[in-house]
Amino acid sequence: MSTPASAAATPRGSRRVSLGIPVPRRTDGLGDALPDTSDRPATPALADRFGRAATDLRLSLTDFCNLRCTYCMPASGLTFLGRDELLSPAEIVRLVRIGVERLGIEQVRFTGGEPLTRPDLEEIIAGVAALERRPDISLTTNAIGLDHRAAGLREAGLDRINVSLDSVVSETFERLTRRPLLHRVLAGIDGARAAGLAPIKVNAVLLPGVNDHELPDLLDWCLDRDLQLRVIEQMPLDADRIWERDGMVTAADAHALLAGRFALTPVEEPRDGAPAELFEVSERATGRPRGRVGVIASVTRPFCADCRRTRLTAEGRVRTCLFSREETDLRGALRGGADDEEIARRWRAAHWGKKAGHGMDSADFRPPDRPMSAIGG
Ligand code: SAM
Ligand code: SF4
Repeated sequence: MSTPASAAATPRGSRRVSLGIPVPRRTDGLGDALPDTSDRPATPALADRFGRAATDLRLSLTDFCNLRCTYCMPASGLTFLGRDELLSPAEIVRLVRIGVERLGIEQVRFTGGEPLTRPDLEEIIAGVAALERRPDISLTTNAIGLDHRAAGLREAGLDRINVSLDSVVSETFERLTRRPLLHRVLAGIDGARAAGLAPIKVNAVLLPGVNDHELPDLLDWCLDRDLQLRVIEQMPLDADRIWERDGMVTAADAHALLAGRFALTPVEEPRDGAPAELFEVSERATGRPRGRVGVIASVTRPFCADCRRTRLTAEGRVRTCLFSREETDLRGALRGGADDEEIARRWRAAHWGKKAGHGMDSADFRPPDRPMSAIGG
């Protein structure tokens, strides 16, 4: 991978060196060459060749982050995008408007990198919330600084929030994130609750021998606080390439880890495109109901056949899958004066080339060049 995983950390705002993405030949001055769409039906939706249509937009606001989670970023950081390379609030709101007005987007989740490191996050959310066809607006965050911003974000129009928290033990948290900042995350969660942002979901990635043994305590801690835990299988999207298929903690392992203390019963509701399988949780010893837990088995039980996602990177490139090796530039079109329909056309064309699945099980699978922090999880 030519991603500068071992490059020295570079301050935000500095010039960017290539992330190593192979950029297709430019054909029209507006961005990249587009997939062949000669067999595409005339539908406004973000349709693909496998009968799916994307309605859920994951929009990365930055590739910068103040943590260095081992399954995501290298210790040294990465070469981050410069300010001019990031989409501006006006560009983001325009792309979301095109998505909802012309392409059938219904939900927008802001992510990163760490979206709270953008000082204009409130402005972006307010702009999207003011759209005539307002999408559902959510945020995935590490919650550092959220205690000071939760009320403003809610006021701006934020509907829902997911906080990433892999451990509530300080030493383990620091080992995972390489920063001694658990107290800041906990303050952020308290701030979100005080601001009335509910429900709060907690995302946890389990690493073998690091935090997997803490899972029952983490679930207990979440249930006590009315937080909905989502256990996420680790994917091969880390800059250091630490992921190993044989060593990862699977969804089945997570069930086994919980089985001593909790009984889990599948929730009989349609998943409706949601990646998490939901379970009702009760105390094994007493039968006392405690709440729910979700398990996201992206690796061992992929849900690609029902995928409704489209992604935009922080510099305005469409990715149809976390694991895509192709991207379609929209920022060049935006800045080159393209009208809304031309941007929608490029976005649709990108989706017509979406693959059937992430392909992790095929012999020639290669993870994308970008790590998770530069894609937007
Ligand atoms: N910084 C924010 C955060 O951590 O919530 C938003 C961006 S982060 C990339 C989004 C989500 O991706 C987090 O819940 C994180 O745990 C998850 N993630 C990062 N790397 C991952 C990996 N290799 N496998 C599975 N999930 C990962
Ligand atoms: Fe930052 Fe989120 Fe990646 Fe952790 S998972 S390094 S908080 S972007």
